Order: sequence, then structure tokens, then C-alpha cells
Amino acid sequence: GPAPGSPAASVETHCPYCALQCGMALRPAADGAAGGVEAVGRTAFDVNRGALCGKGRTAPALLSSRVRLTGPLVRRRPGGPLEPASWEEALDRVARGLSEVRAAHGPDAVGVFGGGGLTNEKAYALGKFARLVLGTSQIDYNGRFCMSSAAAALNRAFGLDRGLPFPLADIPRTGCVILVGANPADTMPPALRYFAELRERGGKLVVVDPRRTRTAEQADLHLAPRPGTDLALALGMLHLVVAEGRVDEEFVAARTTGWPEARAAAMAHWPELVERITGVPVPRLREAVAMFCDAPASMVLTARGPEQQSKGTDTVGAWINLCLATGRAGRPLSGYGCLTGQGNGQGGREHGQKADQLPGYRRLDDPAAREHVARVWGVDPDVLPGPGRSAYELLDALGRDVRALLLTGSNPVVSAPRAAHVEERIASLDFLAVCDVVLSETAKLADVVLPVAQWAEETGTTTSLEGRVLLRRKAVDAPPGVRTDLEVLNALAARLGWERGFPTDPEEVFGELRRASAGGRADYSGITYRRIAEEDGVFWPCPDVPAGDGSPGPHPGTPRLFLDRFATDDGRARFVPVAHRPPAEEPDAEYPLLLTTGRVPAQYQSGAQTRRVAELNDAAPGPFVELHPRLAGRLGVAGGEPVAVVSRRGRAVAPARITAGIRPDTVFMPFHWPGAGRANSLTNPALDPVSRMPEFKVCAVRVERAGDG
Ligand code: SF4
Repeated sequence: GPAPGSPAASVETHCPYCALQCGMALRPAADGAAGGVEAVGRTAFDVNRGALCGKGRTAPALLSSRVRLTGPLVRRRPGGPLEPASWEEALDRVARGLSEVRAAHGPDAVGVFGGGGLTNEKAYALGKFARLVLGTSQIDYNGRFCMSSAAAALNRAFGLDRGLPFPLADIPRTGCVILVGANPADTMPPALRYFAELRERGGKLVVVDPRRTRTAEQADLHLAPRPGTDLALALGMLHLVVAEGRVDEEFVAARTTGWPEARAAAMAHWPELVERITGVPVPRLREAVAMFCDAPASMVLTARGPEQQSKGTDTVGAWINLCLATGRAGRPLSGYGCLTGQGNGQGGREHGQKADQLPGYRRLDDPAAREHVARVWGVDPDVLPGPGRSAYELLDALGRDVRALLLTGSNPVVSAPRAAHVEERIASLDFLAVCDVVLSETAKLADVVLPVAQWAEETGTTTSLEGRVLLRRKAVDAPPGVRTDLEVLNALAARLGWERGFPTDPEEVFGELRRASAGGRADYSGITYRRIAEEDGVFWPCPDVPAGDGSPGPHPGTPRLFLDRFATDDGRARFVPVAHRPPAEEPDAEYPLLLTTGRVPAQYQSGAQTRRVAELNDAAPGPFVELHPRLAGRLGVAGGEPVAVVSRRGRAVAPARITAGIRPDTVFMPFHWPGAGRANSLTNPALDPVSRMPEFKVCAVRVERAGDG
């Protein structure tokens, strides 16, 4: 197999996987294992203080894996195999495939699909490539499936979307945290210490989750609502806040707008009604309110649970309303935050690979934004296309309105909702090009597969869940035959008639990104590679001007937001009145149960990378179906026996795992695997009207013994 170059010495960088972006050092392996490279946690990086989870620790294994791609693959005839090809042939094929479709059907028949794992530089270059070189409006990315509803709710309430408006280090110092639909014990284990420390200092941890997760086990209070009802739960708590006279009237008057409407909406959700909707007893609700309000400061943190719903934006909005009514936002050690999932989930949404956005988190339909970015790009604003389709709508349009696709950093055959349908749409394309490090399930369908460099083989920045811009440094050379995404875009741009070239040096791209972001909501203009290295990360916004508080020197960056004012026009946070509504699918006679999906510690997202790391695969070799003993008894299913989960969209088969840690009306499946056990064969693509987030977290299913089907 290809052996990557060993790092000459220890190189400081960050993990390729989740949004915690743990600091790690890559160094020559002591025992020559893992292709000569090992990853060790960096104790000096204050987020993980040396800790890494199994995914981060084993990440170097993929650098030297025999299954990684080390040369382009081309399908030379329809229905034929993917065969090795030269870069010349492969790039020519991609350029021809994209331009033929463009010539025949117009620029919007060509789509681009990106990912929340791409570095800031790549996300920026991909958006620019789509809009200038291809001239298409049809670009979106898998981050739409990740936290887009939290982003929309943050924009709506605070005028700015940064997942966490405070650093993680504030968590142990607050008085109470409500974690909603978040399971860091499994998804980002090193983050768990923040909550453990909170409890050691006497703070309270409340976990809202239909499952008794390993995170819930550590909570002072665990509320287990029916999936898809946490909006009602938040409203019930707000109702009690009002009824018990716990509203912070002074804060509401001074720093918010819209309270009367939000209050009226909450008052319509009296606790007994909320108990009927959620299944959470009123006394538990009261306990949660007391823990939250008795503490001098408190936080609500959400993750995918409340966000991946067809009412995700309103659900997050309901939790924000609770924070605002109690004065728990825009104050030290208090606030609402989102625990972003993907490695660059935050940065991925700021630089223009989102269907409706330009760099700097600017809106594509804002004339001033178009003008600014067009100036940086040296083009007329009129050549910039308008907003395109959101991720699921784009995938759903493949083979119809969108007939050619360039995809990088994503594996929607496994990770998209209603995945069998999405797979069919992808297979019906006139032309598909995929950039990846391995032959993912989506790459297998491509006409051309371009092997790209991995995280440790190129430099770039990511923006962690804290809104902190970090530097991932190149530590080893990529094998010959592999190119970086930036080099691929440059080579394609040249072939597609873009004469000005696309920079391939990440620092040069970052320089351009800084200019494009200047004055935008996510302003990076004061951030340089050098500063990131010296300061071990810089929190945006960080404009290229002095801080304005009289202190000398450059802007220090902004670890804490909203302490003086929110980012809305009038500086006030906006209450948004929201009401309970049921999930898009409710159980009925045919599909009497609810399915919720999620993750396991040893796998990441679609598993394209982690399933190919032996140690992780041994730890989590395949999917399973969690069911309550009562349900298992009724079905006559024993632990380990294969069961079929059936929804209106498909069927998935996996061994039963029987646990009292789940509601009897709910089953759970992790979604990291393709094939017969693909959980996303079942999930519902019903979209949130505001964020266009699909309803991954709840749909109606029935469960059968697999033999009975
Ligand atoms: Fe990597 Fe996330 Fe694990 Fe840290 S918690 S090592 S960032 S996957």
C-alpha cells in the first residue's frame, strides 16, 4: 500500500472529524505502526487538554490505508466498471461531462454538493467555483442536514448565527445546563468533562432525550419526551416560568422585543397538556424549571435532536424563548448555544457553499452583499446567480432539472434522508464526478472519481463549534497520484475556460476569504494564519480594525457575543411566538412506533472514513435496533435477533438490542452504515419550512421479526 511520508517532527494540528476540533500532534510513530504516524492529544489546547476519542486517536490509520484511493477512476462506458485513469483523462472527462450538460440544459442543470467537513478555504473556493466558473445557482452541502435549523433560529432571535456565543470553558462556571437532544458522551467524549466539572462545582445538568444515553445517565434530571415533542416541552417550561412569576421582566423590557406574543403562545400550552403531548410528568417539568431558574446563571444547549425536525427552527426558537424570558442570554455564563456536529460545520456555512449565501455569511439576495463579493472576485455583480435549492431539494432534482453533479466531502447515499430514493436520483444523473479519499457508496455511482488529499496532507483552517478559527497544518505528503481539492478546482476551472486561475495555496485562498468576509456577519478579515498559530485559534467576528474600546493593537476576536447588544438592527433579541405541532408523520395502525436515529462513539457520519479504520470497525461493526423490553416481548424478539424496521419509504434490517433505556413507543437506529441496515432508508425528508432541514429524528415505523417480512 502507499506509505505517506512520516512527519519530520511533531506537527500541531486538529482532528479531522467532529466540531470539537480537538488539538492533536502528529508525530513519527514510536513503533513504526499506522503507516509511521501517530496522533496524540495536545495538552496545551484548552478544549480537549490532551484527550482524544477513539476516532481522533486512530485518524492517522486512514493515511496509509490500503483502501484509500491513490489514482483517478473513470467509467469509460455506461454500465461499465470504474477503471484507473490518468489525471489528464479524468479531468478532461469531468470538464466535458459538466460542459456538455451546461450547453444542452443551461448552467442551472449543473449542481455542486459540498460538505461540512471541508476546510474554510475549500468551502469558499467551491462556492466561488460554482457561481463563477459553472455559473450555477445549484450549490448546497450536507451541513443543511446538520444544524441548519439552529442556524436559522439563531439568526432569527439574535441576528447572528454562531453556534456557541461563548467558549466551552464557560460551561463549568454556569449554574445549570439543559442539554436538549445532545449526547456528547458518545459523539464528542472529550467535551464531557465540561459537564462533569459543572456538576463537581455544584451546578445542575438536565438532559432532554427520548433515550437514556450515557450523557443522560450523568444528569441530575433526565426528561424523556416522545420524539418530536420537545418544542411542547420548552413551551410547558415557559408556561411554568410565567405561572411561577420567574420571568426576568427587567431583562425582557430592556433587551428583547416580541414578548407579549411569545408569552401568549406559551400560556396556551398548560403543563397538563404538555404532559399529554410529551409524556413528561408535570412534576418533572417543574423540577427542570426550578433547576434552570434557581441557578444564578444557566444555559440551554441543543444538538441534532431538536434541530433535525420538520419544525426544527421553531423547536430551537422555543428553547431560545425560555432563555430570553428568564434573562439567560446576552449575559455572562448564560445563553443558548448549539453543539455543532461536523468538523467544520460552523465554517462550512459561512463562506458560500450554502444555496443562499455568499462569503462572510452574507445573503445572496442582498444587493450590497453581491456588490462586495463581486468586487473581491473581480466580476460584475450581475453575473452572480441567485439562491439555489437546499440540499434535499437539490438531491431530489437530480436526473431531472439538475443533470450533472460535482460532489466533494459528502456521502449522501448513506447520509441523506429517504436514501434509496436519493440513490436512485444520483444514479439517474447524466454525469457525476466525486472527489473523495475512499470509494464511498456515492463515489461508486460516479462517472469519474478524483482521489483527494486527506486532512493531514494539506493545510487549511476550520471553525470549531465555539466559532474559533483553527489551523490544521500539513504534516505529511500525500501519496503520488493524489491531489488537493483546491488543485482539482484549479485544473477544472482552466479546462472550463476560466482564465484567471484558482489559487491552490490555502493561505492565499484564506487571504481572499478574509477580504470577501470583511464587513460581513462572519468577519474573518483580522485573522491570519500567523495569528491563529500564535493564539491557538481566534474567535470570529474579528475585523481588521482595532477593537474600538481604546485598547491598542489588532482586534482580539470575540469569544463572547451579545453581552452589550444582540446583532439585530435595534440590538434587541427577538422572541418568536411558536406553537406545538406534531411531527410530519404520527404513528398509526400500520406504522405504530416512532423511529429516531443517531450515532455511536466509534463511527462518524456516513462512516465512509471510520468504517475503514480496523479498530473502529471492530468496536462498532454494524447497525442495530434499540427496543424496549416490553416491545421486544410483544414482538417475540430476543436480543441479537435480526429485526426489520419498516417505514413508508423503505425497510432496514439489523440485530435487536434490547434496553430499558428507550421509550417503549420508540426505536433507535444509528445511521452510519449502507446496505440492508441503512437507517436512512427509513427517514422522512419532510422539510422545515424555514431552514429546509429534513426530519431525520422522527418518523413512523413498524418493527417485525426479520424472517416474517
Ligand atoms: Fe476528533 Fe471529535 Fe473525537 Fe475530538 S471528540 S478526537 S474532535 S472526533
